Amino acid sequence: GTTDVTELLLSRIRDVADYPEPGVMFKDITPLLADPAAFAALTDALAEVAGRTGATKVVGLEARGFILGAPVALRAGLGFIPVRKAGKLPGATLSQAYDLEYGSAEIEVHAEDLSADDRVLVIDDVLATGGTAEASLELIRRAGARVAGLAVLMELGFLGGRARLEPALAGAPLEAL
Ligand code: AMP
Repeated sequence: GTTDVTELLLSRIRDVADYPEPGVMFKDITPLLADPAAFAALTDALAEVAGRTGATKVVGLEARGFILGAPVALRAGLGFIPVRKAGKLPGATLSQAYDLEYGSAEIEVHAEDLSADDRVLVIDDVLATGGTAEASLELIRRAGARVAGLAVLMELGFLGGRARLEPALAGAPLEAL
């Protein structure tokens, strides 16, 4: 059941204190990736979200969103689209800048990968402040596609990402396993 899957996934996430800087509790998913039963359970759960939300494409956010999103796309029979850090995609891109605690970042997608017919499920490992996800949802809308939803393994609720994403999600579901 759901509880068993949740417990399996939780048991394979390692908390690393003060990484990459003091005060941050880093959620390390490498033990989960190394356990094929846990990785398969996660892939199945995310593919179920893709089916339920009527997604036509899966977007993965660099870098752990690639690892989680690619098998989900295959399982769901959907195309996988990478949203990358600026300067990594060779074709014509749309780019979106967003603020970090110190400074700013920029992400990009190949413009030709998304069209007005698409409903896009965005996948990442951890939702923290929501800044990265918010920028990705903005990219998807600017590409003319619709947002089917956002699915993450884990949501750090105390950072308020869910509330921040409400306008960008515009009613689409945010699923945190
Ligand atoms: P944010 O834009 O603040 O929601 O940060 C989300 C991105 O940073 C995701 O791609 C996560 O992989 C990563 N991230 C943020 N906080 C953590 C954390 N405590 N543990 C692991 N990854 C994190």
